[in-house]
Amino acid sequence: MKATRCILIGAIICLLAPQCAQQQMQRQVLESNTVVLDIGHYYAPGRGGQGARTPDTSCGGMLEECEFWYKYVGEVKDVLEQAGYCCVITNRGDLPTDPALAAAARQVGVVHVKSPQPTAVYLSRHHPKRMAVGILSADYALDCKPAAVIFLHLNSDSETWKISNKGAFYCNRVGVPMATTMAEHVNRTLFGHGLPNRGMPCGVVIRTDGHKGGGDWLNTCNDSWVPALITEIAFVSNPEHARFLNHPINAKRFARAIGEGVVLYLRSR
Ligand SMILES: [Zn+2]
Repeated sequence: MKATRCILIGAIICLLAPQCAQQQMQRQVLESNTVVLDIGHYYAPGRGGQGARTPDTSCGGMLEECEFWYKYVGEVKDVLEQAGYCCVITNRGDLPTDPALAAAARQVGVVHVKSPQPTAVYLSRHHPKRMAVGILSADYALDCKPAAVIFLHLNSDSETWKISNKGAFYCNRVGVPMATTMAEHVNRTLFGHGLPNRGMPCGVVIRTDGHKGGGDWLNTCNDSWVPALITEIAFVSNPEHARFLNHPINAKRFARAIGEGVVLYLRSR
């Protein structure tokens, strides 16, 4: 009889323990005031930012997503800090050799994860079934016990100029409310309000396929119940977007709108 009772109690503990661990993780995320901003791609000495770039300089200059975010991530951080949140900025590579970008990186305290091979695939330390290029940034983000993780990118779908307007926040499952709030905010303040998008609103796409770009960054965050998304809302291959973003005043507005969207979400939790 005593043995039966022990087995029964053991079975109940086994059933409840994962649920408790899940609830504890969810509570930790909800109580967190830290947002991690990851600058996408990396800077290669002599070659510059290794993300997507404009086909040429005809739309107000060259625009490359990694370099763009080194220049403007401080605006996102400023919005978050003004609203009372802590902000950690990461990049999977090393400090840029370009003096202006290096100065910008130092000013906002970018943590360079130094993958150490920024182009190699790594397993996540937190969730080893997840693997991707750049996943060590996601791991570092989870080390920070964040409320949210934002992977800062610009979109591109062509090597030549092409009018593309179907940009979106690519998010994990637990990131849908955040992505929706952010999309609503940029649709209210940015798309069609300075940033030309031919009437097409910014979308929200759930990405759970680890084989697709950034899929496992989002999955590993989802495994820890952390809302995460990739900002693929404007296209460097769209001449209208490039012309807009090549103006520093517009670029700052764009970056700040992303920060404002995150704040609106965090305040709604
Ligand atoms: Zn990118």
